Amino acid sequence: MKTVYLIKYAEIGVKGKNRYVFEDALIRCIQTALDRVIADTYVVHRSQGRIYVDVPDDHSPDAFADEETEALKKVFGIAGICPVLCLSDTGFDDLADAAVDYMKKNYGEGEHTFKVFARRARKNYPMDSPEICMELGGRILDECSNLSVDVHEPQIELNVEIRENIFIYSRIIPGLGGMPIGTGGKAMLLLSGGIDSPVAGYSIARRGVSLEAVYFHAPPYTSERARQKVVDLAAKISVYTGPIRLHVINFTDIQMAIYEKCPHDELTIIMRRYMMRIAERLATDAGCLGLVTGESIGQVASQTMQSLLCTNEVCSLPVYRPLIAFDKQDIVDISERIDTFETSILPYEDCCTIFVAKHPVTKPNPVTIRRHEKHLADCIDELVEQALARDEIITVK
Ligand code: ATP
Ligand code: MG
Repeated sequence: MKTVYLIKYAEIGVKGKNRYVFEDALIRCIQTALDRVIADTYVVHRSQGRIYVDVPDDHSPDAFADEETEALKKVFGIAGICPVLCLSDTGFDDLADAAVDYMKKNYGEGEHTFKVFARRARKNYPMDSPEICMELGGRILDECSNLSVDVHEPQIELNVEIRENIFIYSRIIPGLGGMPIGTGGKAMLLLSGGIDSPVAGYSIARRGVSLEAVYFHAPPYTSERARQKVVDLAAKISVYTGPIRLHVINFTDIQMAIYEKCPHDELTIIMRRYMMRIAERLATDAGCLGLVTGESIGQVASQTMQSLLCTNEVCSLPVYRPLIAFDKQDIVDISERIDTFETSILPYEDCCTIFVAKHPVTKPNPVTIRRHEKHLADCIDELVEQALARDEIITVK
């Protein structure tokens, strides 16, 4: 008798002929997540269209600790995690004893209703599914006076599957859903120290997209602490995504040039256009298929639809904005859930706040912006090349 974990997955089940690609990716992601937290070797494998995690033989049936369950709860692509009691088939009486023990141990206290669901994947088993349900249900009722049967809305669904071995389980721990990392290509996340962009990165990664990230800093106007905060945020997201290559771009000279030569009410929007241009260069070099930002319509002046039009027009790669229609509170809720909130609200300046105008334009005109950017013509190409040449890459995990 031992414990295995049955991994239920949702959407990857409907991928037709590509299904094995998704399953392989999910197996890899599960293995990596478990390797991160434990020294033991847990074997992750596929059998008869399902994914299982085997617990090492020397563990007691309850040995799958919270730590491992927590690790699985951070793997995209998992819909549910079922702790399964696995027995060899030594006859129906032994199965019935094990089922009764299981119910006593897990639901021994209080009143509960239950129903047995039996599945006979191995057809040479001497009883059919309805017979197994009837017999097991009867035995459990005889031995557990606190339990009663409800076939319509049972509180406990006791699953019994007759395969090579016999599986007993009743609990489904919800997973994150989404798709396994890496099955959706790669994107470049513009990661600032705020609340939004880490949530944007997490949200797109949940669809199977792996991430690189870029942070623009402006020393000495932004501090080492502000930079470290972004590294820490990347580390928090990497719990879900795996290692992230973070590009740190020194933006000071570009920002100073914009400050000196362009109208101050347009500083933010012009600065954002240069961030997008540089991010696109990095993205293309890294094989990314798009950019990702934490923008949301109307949140600040640089995120009105007119402003988004202006920042968008400098890129030819698609710009994904997973939070575009989210309210701030929805974003905060996710950031608390994924544990980036506390880091995001640390009060360190980011490079936008220092150069920010008192009254930024809220409806920038692309033609005017393009005209004003011409004031930078004598220096900007060189400054962009210098910034790219000094790209500092940190692999965060
Ligand atoms: P966030 O909470 O993500 O910082 P925000 O509400 O502060 O967003 P903005 O400062 O207008 O909004 O930035 C919009 C988006 O531009 C951010 O979500 C992020 O994707 C990107 N961005 C802004 N500043 C930087 C920066 N210094 N480095 C990298 N990306 C940035
Ligand atoms: Mg910000």
